[in-house]
Amino acid sequence: MAFESLTDRLQNAMSKLRRKGKVTEADVKEMMREIRLALLEADVNFKVVKDFTKRVSDRAVGIEVLESLTPAQQIVKIVDEELTATLGTEMVGINKSPKIPTIIMMSGLQGAGKTTFVGKLAQHLQKTENARPLLIAGDVYRPAAIEQLKVLGQQIDAPVFELGTDVSPVEIVRQGLEQAYANKNDYVFIDTAGRLHIDEHLMGELKDIKELANPDEILLVVDGMTGQDAVTVADSFNEQLDITGVVVTKLDGDSRGGAALSIRAVTGKPIKFVGTGEKLTDIEVFHPDRMSSRILG
Ligand code: GDP
Repeated sequence: MAFESLTDRLQNAMSKLRRKGKVTEADVKEMMREIRLALLEADVNFKVVKDFTKRVSDRAVGIEVLESLTPAQQIVKIVDEELTATLGTEMVGINKSPKIPTIIMMSGLQGAGKTTFVGKLAQHLQKTENARPLLIAGDVYRPAAIEQLKVLGQQIDAPVFELGTDVSPVEIVRQGLEQAYANKNDYVFIDTAGRLHIDEHLMGELKDIKELANPDEILLVVDGMTGQDAVTVADSFNEQLDITGVVVTKLDGDSRGGAALSIRAVTGKPIKFVGTGEKLTDIEVFHPDRMSSRILG
């Protein structure tokens, strides 16, 4: 691991204070320096770092040193609690529609892991709820994307609705939804086109699909390996589409997850799931406390 863990940093910074009765302002300043550096290294957005260290230091100044815990341990505990609070405290599930189908619209840049995630979440719902999902292939710009969704559909035994690449995505979604109503599917996944970068045409198309489908969930998929870029992407997708949740993929890599912390703080939207590998079973419901431990190291 390329990083020194935040916990180790704090332990080191505080080791000299072990015998003191109180944590002073100067001690806290020293600790905050370590926290700031560690969070920046973990790819947390600098503004988020600033707000965060302020909250931690407000709580840390003047804490009594308990016999059972060293000052460092107490501050690590405060940091852990504040990290978890920033990440959202509780896990948040899918927004379900009171009437079937629950419509889940996917969004994100190309390569973020959108199509793979459709397969993962659809299978997860099949296993946990006996769900009968329909997958709609709305990415008409890459024939390979339709093929990829069809292969996924076969793997998990879920129907895929597609009309090739000559029909507009909005029309595909319209007809796909009709099929879902007719077949009483309980979940509909709308896979949409990604681009290498955010562009107006893409956003316009996503807004049109949103307006037509009125989705219960608009999930943005971001690549957790891209750090601060993922935060920028999340910010602009949220601004344009008012997303309902975020999926952070590729957390099986050695990224520390700082992007997750920033995304939640910058967009105010919950992270709902994480992707931890290329296999369809590599999906986890997002647990803020686990992510906090990962960032603390
Ligand atoms: P899309 O363009 O957003 O639909 O992205 P894809 O679903 O095609 O995924 C792009 C690449 O990322 C593929 O090679 C996937 O296997 C890979 N991928 C997706 N999710 C994860 C993940 O959680 N971890 C890892 N390591 N790879 C992933």
